[in-house]
Amino acid sequence: MKKLAIDLKRLDKVKTIIPASIERRIEDLLIFDARILDIATRKELVRLVPGLHAIRLAWKAHFAMYGCVSCHRKKVGYASGGLCDRCLHRTLYRMKTCLRKIDAGRSTPEEIGELTRKFDAAQRLFNGED
Ligand SMILES: [Zn+2]
Repeated sequence: MKKLAIDLKRLDKVKTIIPASIERRIEDLLIFDARILDIATRKELVRLVPGLHAIRLAWKAHFAMYGCVSCHRKKVGYASGGLCDRCLHRTLYRMKTCLRKIDAGRSTPEEIGELTRKFDAAQRLFNGED
């Protein structure tokens, strides 16, 4: 088998982008929309991922400066996620309709079982059947 020659000079020119920190990397990934989650789930997420709190504050600051991200009105009550009360409720209503359509004919326990199948099998191998 022929060995491939590595061009070390060319390799040195390759730039690798390394995140400044794990926190920065997590912040970069936080393009997550929690607006349609229930309050308890949102609070638990903020407890687990403190970076979400900063994003919530940023949305609120955005609203104060530019108004609602949907209707662009400024003199209305703030709800969350950069939306005014009316736009949030309209969006929630629409999203619930969309979620009902998505959930029609699906079995959540069956899908979760499918997702954890490999993990469950590994756990049985390591821990026995109990
Ligand atoms: Zn609005």
